[in-house]
Amino acid sequence: MTRHRAHPCFHRKSMQWRRRKGRPLGPRTALGDPAACPPGDGSGPAVADVRHTAFRRGAKGCVGGPAAGRTHGTGVTARPGETAVYVCVVPEDTGSVVIVGGGQAGLAAAHAALRIGLRPVVLEATGRTAGSWPCYYDSLTLFSQARYCALPGMPFPGDPDRYPHRDEVVAYLERYGAELAARGARIRTAARVTEVTAGGGGFTVRLADGETLETPRLIAATGSFGRPYRPALPGEEGFTGRILHAAEYRAPEPFAGRRVIVVGAGNSAVQIACELAEHATVTIASRTPIRFVPQRPLGRDLHFWFRLTGFDRLPLPRAERPPAQPVVDTGRYRRALRSGRPERRPMFTRLDGDRVEWPDGRREPVDVVLLATGYRPSVGYLAPLGALTGDGRPRQFRGLSTTHPGLAFVGLEWQRTPASNSLRGVGADARHVLRALAGMPGRAASAAS
Ligand SMILES: Cc1cc2nc3c(=O)[nH]c(=O)nc-3n(C[C@H](O)[C@H](O)[C@H](O)COP(=O)(O)OP(=O)(O)OC[C@H]3O[C@@H](n4cnc5c(N)ncnc54)[C@H](O)[C@@H]3O)c2cc1C
Repeated sequence: MTRHRAHPCFHRKSMQWRRRKGRPLGPRTALGDPAACPPGDGSGPAVADVRHTAFRRGAKGCVGGPAAGRTHGTGVTARPGETAVYVCVVPEDTGSVVIVGGGQAGLAAAHAALRIGLRPVVLEATGRTAGSWPCYYDSLTLFSQARYCALPGMPFPGDPDRYPHRDEVVAYLERYGAELAARGARIRTAARVTEVTAGGGGFTVRLADGETLETPRLIAATGSFGRPYRPALPGEEGFTGRILHAAEYRAPEPFAGRRVIVVGAGNSAVQIACELAEHATVTIASRTPIRFVPQRPLGRDLHFWFRLTGFDRLPLPRAERPPAQPVVDTGRYRRALRSGRPERRPMFTRLDGDRVEWPDGRREPVDVVLLATGYRPSVGYLAPLGALTGDGRPRQFRGLSTTHPGLAFVGLEWQRTPASNSLRGVGADARHVLRALAGMPGRAASAAS
């Protein structure tokens, strides 16, 4: 629970009098809402967080509201004949935490922060709190039932047994963000972080518009969609067709009648290839065979079994690279592959002009190569801090930075459990890292202002 100490200019007698008389201490204004506070001169000490309690007839004391995170004081009249005293209460290390990214991971982190009394400031580059979901392809239906898609504290709406569509997740996350804001989280959209550096015992966060924030605690929750992985393809420089990443794919219609090769063996590769195969001639090319897992073993959703067996909570050993995930399938994808639409072949050996060359020496024309080759953590803004490996991955263990105390990650694939990078698993990871960060000594952070 958050404890508060009174600001030095608090008039103690008035508080004691009200306590003795059993009178309420007065209405509270909204936390950190400057509009709800009377204007002040900003002459008081810098604080991380300011609460105001209004007293009628309190006569003396610190009167006023915050100005740019500072307390101040002069008299103010509430109604004719009455004096309203606004008592500035400086929380004892309530502390703030800056969360970069307002997708499911950032929102889950903000929720966990509020629960333990930290004050989250979420910085989201886009105009909404829906993460990368609006950018995923149009037909995307989740591989888990709605009952396994909820973030902490808010059930996913509608029939819990259905498999929701992408747009339902978008709507849910936006509602979740609004709910967090109503509970005191500060959510700033159109706030892209460009660089984080060390400063003053914590971190200096620079935004695209040049603004800087100081914070003792920072959570990177920026997912990986912003950093698609594109393996080098032999001959690609001379290839006359189009090469694109699955991150750019939205719908099959623009590819109608084309010869398309989808590279990859994961969920996205198979889903996109099967969808495309109804409009185009499609081959899935992969280095390894495609592995499948039934979506409903023994008549129950796969995630039911993950919960029952504890698989979702399995602590993972330290791993350089997350292992490849099998493709979740109702049987539809295996049937499509058996029918040859799409067909599957081992990875091609090279591209050459408008052609592709297969391991058996066959060459054939191809229009499009679509790379469903995954993503890498999108945390480039942490590079100046020295918190990343040479290939741009976070140096972390179970979400906590191994280079910088106070820095943590949420939403990394395989971060702590097999469910880390999913709607159902991100909440537990967020709780884990926030508990660790809460134990850190705090200091006043202008991020809260
Ligand atoms: C095609 C596809 C299908 C998936 N299907 C499922 C599924 O069925 N079920 C499931 O549970 N999971 C699924 N996932 C996995 C996972 O749940 C999603 O990828 C999810 O979007 C990850 O959430 P996130 O918050 O970690 O990252 P994102 O959703 O990528 O959110 C990151 C946020 O950070 C913001 N950001 C990035 N850089 C900055 C910056 N520098 N400054 C400020 N903000 C920044 C972005 O704008 C974005 O809003 C799927 C993933 C993909 C790619």
